[in-house]
Amino acid sequence: MSSTHFSSDSTVSVIGGGLAGCEAALQLAARGMRVRLHEMRPHTVTPAHETDRLAELVCSNSLKSLLPGTAAGLLKAELRQLGCRLLPIAESCRVPAGNALAVDRDAFACAVTREVEAEPLIEVIRGEVGSLPAAPAIIATGPLTSESLTAALLEAVGEEQLYFFDAIAPIIDADSLDHDVVYRATRYDKGDADYLNCPFDKEQYERFVIALREGEKHEAHEFESRFFSQLKWKFYENCIPVEELARRGDDTLRYGVLRPVGLNDPRSGRRPWAVLQLRSENAGGTAWNLVGCQTMLRQGEQQRVFRLVPGLERARFLRYGSIHRNTYLHTPALADETLSLKSAPGVRLAGQLAGVEGYVESIFGGWLAAALTAGPLPLLPDTTISGQLWRHMITPSDRYQPMNANFGLLPPLPERIRDKKLKKAVLAARALDDLKKWVADS
Ligand SMILES: Cc1cc2nc3c(=O)[nH]c(=O)nc-3n(C[C@H](O)[C@H](O)[C@H](O)COP(=O)(O)OP(=O)(O)OC[C@H]3O[C@@H](n4cnc5c(N)ncnc54)[C@H](O)[C@@H]3O)c2cc1C
Repeated sequence: MSSTHFSSDSTVSVIGGGLAGCEAALQLAARGMRVRLHEMRPHTVTPAHETDRLAELVCSNSLKSLLPGTAAGLLKAELRQLGCRLLPIAESCRVPAGNALAVDRDAFACAVTREVEAEPLIEVIRGEVGSLPAAPAIIATGPLTSESLTAALLEAVGEEQLYFFDAIAPIIDADSLDHDVVYRATRYDKGDADYLNCPFDKEQYERFVIALREGEKHEAHEFESRFFSQLKWKFYENCIPVEELARRGDDTLRYGVLRPVGLNDPRSGRRPWAVLQLRSENAGGTAWNLVGCQTMLRQGEQQRVFRLVPGLERARFLRYGSIHRNTYLHTPALADETLSLKSAPGVRLAGQLAGVEGYVESIFGGWLAAALTAGPLPLLPDTTISGQLWRHMITPSDRYQPMNANFGLLPPLPERIRDKKLKKAVLAARALDDLKKWVADS
């Protein structure tokens, strides 16, 4: 694949010390290239980050499943083959979450910050970048890219950008849970029982759904500066607020985020009508995230509505759910196949800003931008999740939206396999085999 590459003695500017930016910086350094990593925090803050650390996870502490028979697990297995730097750090900061890779967020951000700062080829510069950097550069400023850089990007690339709203779930203090009601279990008893479960009967569920629908919510324009409120806003389909799901139908939640299958209450031996799961936020288990309950409700309404959940009657909120901006660029229209901007060759896009969605996907985006900056790279196999995420970012589309890892991205198998589990296992094995050959050949 041909495009603008730079000799190993050029210094690469990486803008944004998040997941993509840190992975990119470490990858470039590993290839012997000098890096200036610009991170605007703590001088300029975002609506979601709370610290000055690099690679801060702003919401859930889960990097999703580790099982290779899942798309998220397969992407991790691929990243291991590609020599990803952030994944081993995440694994060293693991907290119990069944088959998922959940991390202690503080420990993870501290460990990445230490590793980046200890790398002699990387200079970390604290301060906002407000204009398009000179090549070679990687822009990895993420979904909360600052106002001045967004304005510079708009000017440089035109109006093709899209913006969407996203929402995050509340976190509850463990001491405020009613442990006579909530119970530990993992779905179908797979792995350790790391989740706490709040069981609803029919009446409790119906009351909760009505309260969600009637709850007073924030309006988008209340969240952003005048500059951002003037741009066009859309909801991102993969992160719909729970009250919006409740509005879609009486059973939408019960068949979705509150589905009770495989979560029988050990005290009754029965399956509840619906179940809200809580996932631990830290190694000590002192803070619990309401899984799937991202919300736009006002804070007072969150107290009223979520306290209707059995076991949460006295819930103390450590963090309220909220709505936030999530910015991304229409990369296929703006960049070439090496993610280099057509209007600024050698300036590459990475991470969520380029159109991948999720922590691990963004880490992959950082890996990819660094590898492409370092030299020519053959396309990753189309049978891999990583290969398809790359193709997603370079394939023209009228409705371009950030993409997360999923099996739907992969080409079908030559043979028809009815058993879904087996089919995913075969898809995963094919991906890892093909990637192994790609790594050996490139
Ligand atoms: C509120 C919120 C909740 C989310 N929840 C989840 C979740 O639960 N699970 C999940 O998988 N994904 C979640 N996402 C998506 C997730 O943030 C991204 O997928 C991932 O963090 C993106 O990685 P990134 O490196 O592209 O951006 P980030 O990790 O956001 O890093 C970008 C960095 O750039 C810095 N920056 C911004 N502008 C400038 C500038 N002009 N100059 C210098 N530095 C700058 C920022 O301070 C930040 O450190 C969430 C996103 C948001 C906003």
